Amino acid sequence: MTVHSSLAELIGNTPLVKLNHIPQSLGVKATIAVKVEYFNPGGSSKDRIAERIIDAAERSGQLKPGGVIVEPTSGNTGVGLALVAQQRGYRTIFTLPDKVSESKRAVLRAYGAEVIVTPTDAGPDDPRSYYQVAERLANEIPGGFRPNQYDNPNGPESHYYTTGPEIWEATDHKVTHFVAGIGTGGTISGTGKYLKEASNGAVKVIGSDPEGSIYSADSLADVHQYDIEGVGEDFYPKAFDRNITDDIVKVNDAEAFEMTRRLAGEEALLVGGSSGMAVASAIKYALANDLDENQLVVVLAPDSGRSYLEKIFNDDWMRANGYGDIVDRTAKPSLAE
Ligand code: PMP
Repeated sequence: MTVHSSLAELIGNTPLVKLNHIPQSLGVKATIAVKVEYFNPGGSSKDRIAERIIDAAERSGQLKPGGVIVEPTSGNTGVGLALVAQQRGYRTIFTLPDKVSESKRAVLRAYGAEVIVTPTDAGPDDPRSYYQVAERLANEIPGGFRPNQYDNPNGPESHYYTTGPEIWEATDHKVTHFVAGIGTGGTISGTGKYLKEASNGAVKVIGSDPEGSIYSADSLADVHQYDIEGVGEDFYPKAFDRNITDDIVKVNDAEAFEMTRRLAGEEALLVGGSSGMAVASAIKYALANDLDENQLVVVLAPDSGRSYLEKIFNDDWMRANGYGDIVDRTAKPSLAE
């Protein structure tokens, strides 16, 4: 019988798929393969951290029967936590900034979570910010537990124990570069640590970061808002280990969104904006460093484009936000002449 006893058994073991058109069209000689995380049951890489964080909190006694999970999340961590929590009988409350799309909020509510929307322009020290609101609720509500994905070591560890070994084995130990966007930093730090250890330091770990985020900013004056969701920060979380990344390649919103649309249109990969960003960084890096046919670059694509249909894949939203030229460039010729 191949009947799974729970959805949680399907977390991880996502496929690696080679890009056959876009890198070649831009003159990249190295092979670029994408780890497609939307194959996780909750639709993103965050399912991995949710399961490990909840397991650890149950073991340590931080989460007890009838407990309430409270977390500030841009959506994907919420989905992972909500699906694991629902099956184990915990209530979930998520705070998220108002730049996060309505469809992502609806998904969280569908899983039974309560969603609180906060202003995007409220900084981390502002009591209205999604961090502060979550912190207050977790303290006030009896049985409240804050997974704190920004500080929780189980986040990077979930990638150290799952994502890293999966990439190492799936490439027959031939991976030479690993590229991932940096949000909490858990993905790149955990996966990167494993791949460096497994390869005796040979695998290069490249971070991808939105222009305006702290990780790639030359100074704090360069930190500003951007439209790509789920990546970049305006502070340094503990989940991010600066010693693991060899380099960080900055991408702006327009570059990320153009690549996101090309991945759907030319590689049949309907992935999110942070995936487009990571692929754009991988291509920039491969070209700038003249990577050749012997190099195998693995790029992690955290989630699905279905969460961004009303933004990146909506021509009206794209034009209204100054990305009209991308719409024109990625539009397919009409069959009706
Ligand atoms: N992309 C998306 C869409 C995300 O939700 C996240 C998580 N915030 C990331 C990338 C970055 O992953 P990490 O937090 O592990 O750095």
